[in-house]
Amino acid sequence: MKEELFHKHLFTPGPVKMSPEILQLGARQPPYFRNKYFSQLVLDSEAKMLDLVNAPEGSRVIFLTASGTGAMEAVVMNLFTTSQTVAVIDGGTFGRRFVDICLTHHIPVKAFKVDRDTLSDGRVSAKVPPADALLINGHETSVGHLYDLNCVGAFCKENKILHVVDAISMFGTDVIDMQSQCIDTLILSSHKGLALPPGLAFVVLSPEALSFIGKPQSFYFDFARHLKDGERGQTPFTPAVSIMIQLHARLEQLMDGGLAREWNRAAHIAAYFRSRIMDLPLEPYSNHMPNAMTALRVTNGVSALRLVEELETVHHCVVAPNGGDLKDTVFRVSHMGDMTVGDVDTLVHALRCFFEENK
Ligand SMILES: *Cc1c(COP(=O)(O)O)cnc(C)c1O
Repeated sequence: MKEELFHKHLFTPGPVKMSPEILQLGARQPPYFRNKYFSQLVLDSEAKMLDLVNAPEGSRVIFLTASGTGAMEAVVMNLFTTSQTVAVIDGGTFGRRFVDICLTHHIPVKAFKVDRDTLSDGRVSAKVPPADALLINGHETSVGHLYDLNCVGAFCKENKILHVVDAISMFGTDVIDMQSQCIDTLILSSHKGLALPPGLAFVVLSPEALSFIGKPQSFYFDFARHLKDGERGQTPFTPAVSIMIQLHARLEQLMDGGLAREWNRAAHIAAYFRSRIMDLPLEPYSNHMPNAMTALRVTNGVSALRLVEELETVHHCVVAPNGGDLKDTVFRVSHMGDMTVGDVDTLVHALRCFFEENK
């Protein structure tokens, strides 16, 4: 096995650093799952997840063995038809992905952009075109922007627009509350905020969202089938059994201290990192950063891509590069997962060494 695959310090927006207890569970023999023990685990995971996101009474969770994009596509296929219109905030790679999914399935889509500085305040609402639903990436991970879900949710509710939130890269680090943020559909996945291995994605559907479900052009992603089997704690097809078990343990961890403790922990780590790099030639890319991540612009003319490469090869710290126009100027540091102040110190030290040699 190639040892260099296993980097020591992960600061990427997925996979993220996992806790030792959860990692150990992944080393165990996956059990058989068509039995009452596994059903109990699934039912309990659903109840815990609904509780953690404060889902309205009567909400359901669908467990998909797919990456997050699978859940994004499944939502579009099951909830919307070609005679509806959905609005999408095209704020980066992931907003664009929602647009492309709608185009693939011939769902009429109205994509709109918002000014980077106004991304997270109430003015987003003013830009939403008339539509049956709004698809939003709560944290647009490609540029590290956090939208104001309270404002957008209130607007959707007032205008009877279904509020669909991809919270993949904010669950566990930034506030998610289906009831107070008027969220009808929540999309989550295993390997970002939840700090599990990649492989599972989740869709939480409010009673309102459940009433949108139709007959999709898909066998594997047919929500009606998933919901029916889910009533007895089963999935229609083999789930990523080991990750389901790790998920249950992770939800127990989260229930233990409550999500607010996790939000505070992430806020602390993010603030600590940002305070330690003030004197380096770096500036935040967004004015509305989540706790989950810091996207940084390099201001001394050194290539961000080179920085990313050197941090990895010389200092064994893996941060995420940006693509497209931003590839030479911007990179991203994730604070998701089992991050400690010690991990942040390691990265800050690596950044200092890099800029010492690249003034
Ligand atoms: C990572 C991510 C996804 C899903 O990407 P996958 O490669 O399918 O895991 C979707 N939305 C956001 C905001 C993400 O950060």
